[in-house]
Amino acid sequence: MKTAELDDLETIPCKDCGVDIWKLQEYYMVSDACWKRSGMKPTGGMLCIGCLESRLGQKLKAINFKDCPLNWRNLALPDMASPRLVSRMLSGGKRSKWRRLLLRAYDEAMGGNPAMLEKLTLVNFSDPS
Ligand SMILES: [Zn+2]
Repeated sequence: MKTAELDDLETIPCKDCGVDIWKLQEYYMVSDACWKRSGMKPTGGMLCIGCLESRLGQKLKAINFKDCPLNWRNLALPDMASPRLVSRMLSGGKRSKWRRLLLRAYDEAMGGNPAMLEKLTLVNFSDPS
């Protein structure tokens, strides 16, 4: 593979502001309906969280994120996701879809006690907006 092709792979520009989504760590998938509402085509490029939210006129919520391996990776390895992305995925407090899924996954993996699991969750992610 040539160097130019490698460079292409390492850069994913936001369609609206041009920021490198890979570097920003805002590589995610939202529901088809949400993407369509933003005016984006399925293969029409990618948007950072800020640009998608300004197109939608509102902040993203947990329910907007697809249940897919990429989004699971963002929660399982939060070092690979921006605080802004993680905060949107975990929005909604205790009722958050992703928070409940994460708790269940921890519980299954560790057979742990519920009180400990509560402490381990990512509820302390603040919303950096
Ligand atoms: Zn952008």
